[in-house]
Amino acid sequence: MQNKSVLINKDNFKTFKNNACSQAGKIKNKISRLASYAMPYPMDIEMEITHRCNLSCRFCFQREESIKANNQPRKVPYGELDVSIIEKVLRETSEVKSDLYMHGGEPLMHQEWNDVAKVFEKYPRRLRLSTNGLLLEKRMESILRISKNLVIVFSLHGFKGSFDTYSRKGMYDQSNRNLKLILSLKKKGVYRGLVTINCVLNEQVIPNLFNFTKYCERIGVDQLIISYPWYISDHTRRKMDMYYESHFSWLNSKSKLENNKPSWYNYSFHLDPSVTNTLCNQIDKIESTKRKLPIRFHPDLKKNEIYGHISGKNRVTRRKQYCMNITKQMFILPNGNVSACKVFNEFYAGNIYKQSLIDIWKGERMNNIRKIMNNSFNDGSWPVGVCSKCNLLSGNQL
Ligand code: SF4
Repeated sequence: MQNKSVLINKDNFKTFKNNACSQAGKIKNKISRLASYAMPYPMDIEMEITHRCNLSCRFCFQREESIKANNQPRKVPYGELDVSIIEKVLRETSEVKSDLYMHGGEPLMHQEWNDVAKVFEKYPRRLRLSTNGLLLEKRMESILRISKNLVIVFSLHGFKGSFDTYSRKGMYDQSNRNLKLILSLKKKGVYRGLVTINCVLNEQVIPNLFNFTKYCERIGVDQLIISYPWYISDHTRRKMDMYYESHFSWLNSKSKLENNKPSWYNYSFHLDPSVTNTLCNQIDKIESTKRKLPIRFHPDLKKNEIYGHISGKNRVTRRKQYCMNITKQMFILPNGNVSACKVFNEFYAGNIYKQSLIDIWKGERMNNIRKIMNNSFNDGSWPVGVCSKCNLLSGNQL
């Protein structure tokens, strides 16, 4: 089996991106011949290792789960993925070295974080770690030990005003100090990975977006991702309710969230569409200024698509859509549930506490979900508006 270990640096980032694009084309061809097509192993595995979080960002779609998990005692199966299960996932994919994306909640809040890091030392592979950075200094020793293959995806949604308004008042300085700390260790060659900033657009940062990009460049960030908040309008949620009921009612109650509302109801935060002009002006300024810092908008909208997108219009204006996720990526929740969709965990395909990774990946249940989803994308019955912010729609990842 092919060993696809990837050394990460700025030079091979472009190659990596090009490979992903050509791979997307090949996968699309295979899906058109077989709707249940999947790669032999998941190439990417996303693990939400804990629901716990030390912030409560207004645009976080997992806010409710985080609040619940923070109030739970140690070692409850709902709120945290057990270290032995994380090890099991890495062991089962050690030959193919699936890429990992670890997030939460706040992954550094995992109550056995040091043991989690030891597992990554034992089974090294490309790892993206999404963090708000507040615990970075405290966890630095373990972070440095695994840093060779690490991309820290640092959530920072603008300057102090944004942090105070949208995340948690008074914590900006700690977050910013830790960001500068990791970047200074990187300059000295002590931290050997990359640092990406993920900034979710909000009404405080938009008028200062250009300045924010300059700030990220000045302090030495490797990449900046600017994400639109994921907003699913009421109209689209109801369409998704109907679609799920008609195509997926055979998925049993395990697929349901502990609260009774399906997960597509969590995406309610949105920008006021009146910010569109200011945002477009800032984007113009960013685009017309020479810079070294790679910046990616997520999704990468044209100017005339921004207003509709922010308003939550049920419209995806790109070429014919399909989902890259179900053929190549596995998504594992803190309770061990595996969902075929990385965003909506109602597409329950199995549980990693009870089954092997490959049994879930190749199982009848997962294949049926793939088949129905791909056929629905193909015949237009899938309410594609629910996916319009997903980086896996049409293989638009990275
Ligand atoms: S494209 Fe849609 S179905 Fe696929 S992972 Fe994204 S949200 Fe889920």
